[in-house]
Amino acid sequence: AQRLFEPLRQFAEKFTAIQSGFTAVERINDILDEPIEIQDIAEAQSLHLTHVDSASQGEIRFEHVWFAYKDDDYVIRDLDFTIKPGEKIALVGPTGAGKSSIVRLLCRLYEPTRGRILIDGVDINQITQAELRRYLGVILQDGFLFAGDVKMNITLGEEYTEAEILQAARSTNIDRFIDQLPEGYNTQLRERGSNLSAGQKQLIAFARSVIRNPRILVLDEATASLDVGTEVLIQDALDRLIVDRTAIIIAHRLSTIRNVDRIFVLKQGALIESGSHEELIDGGGLYASLYQLQMLGT
Ligand code: ADP
Repeated sequence: AQRLFEPLRQFAEKFTAIQSGFTAVERINDILDEPIEIQDIAEAQSLHLTHVDSASQGEIRFEHVWFAYKDDDYVIRDLDFTIKPGEKIALVGPTGAGKSSIVRLLCRLYEPTRGRILIDGVDINQITQAELRRYLGVILQDGFLFAGDVKMNITLGEEYTEAEILQAARSTNIDRFIDQLPEGYNTQLRERGSNLSAGQKQLIAFARSVIRNPRILVLDEATASLDVGTEVLIQDALDRLIVDRTAIIIAHRLSTIRNVDRIFVLKQGALIESGSHEELIDGGGLYASLYQLQMLGT
């Protein structure tokens, strides 16, 4: 488990002087809302590299996955699906349906009570967490910033060239904003990001993820309300971010996911419908009702 957030830990060590109280790692734990306990198994060191380096992969398979946080109180029930390399999936469903739990399982913050999760045919409990983190980019809701400058917030203290940093910023539409800051990439950001808008924080989180070039991207869509201009910038950055990657988007606004390949509709931990937007609307099930409600509400 120690290796899971290694980049963040290194970052935290570099910045303890300006952190107040907690380390970045503890903060991330706060955000994920759980302790991170799972240890790598002893033989999990080296089988992964061929998979990670392959350009054409990114398949995710859940094999009859059941999961309970405690006892037999199952919050994930018999999930059994394959997401193809490059496929874009949206997870929708009411609060408590299990969307975040799926992401936590995929990140191996927890392990299935029953069943297996495979990435490119390898059970993820056979992959070191450091490797998993490289292969799987996770963008948490509402962008998260550290006290430090813009550059650090993108690299997290890892070695990247100026060109790579610029490219990450450009491809996520945040470059023009950074150029307007008094000290550009060296501008200090406040920890809670109070000198940035919600949209800008989200874009910096995008840049932080894209620079690591993960094959699989998991996005928890921002719930903060954004102005229309920012919304368009974010949607555009997101569209580009997920090209050539497998993507799982936890969608809070159904309007933003019409273009995904498949929508998984969850209810009480079970996958009750899946299909394209049109298929699900035609099907007249839960998705169609949720969609109608949201359309009425906006
Ligand atoms: P969603 O993301 O769709 O809102 P979650 O995956 O967060 O759903 O929650 C699924 C179920 O698991 C809910 O009933 C929730 O109360 C429960 N749950 C979530 N996190 C925990 C936890 N850390 N410990 C115990 N139960 C949890």
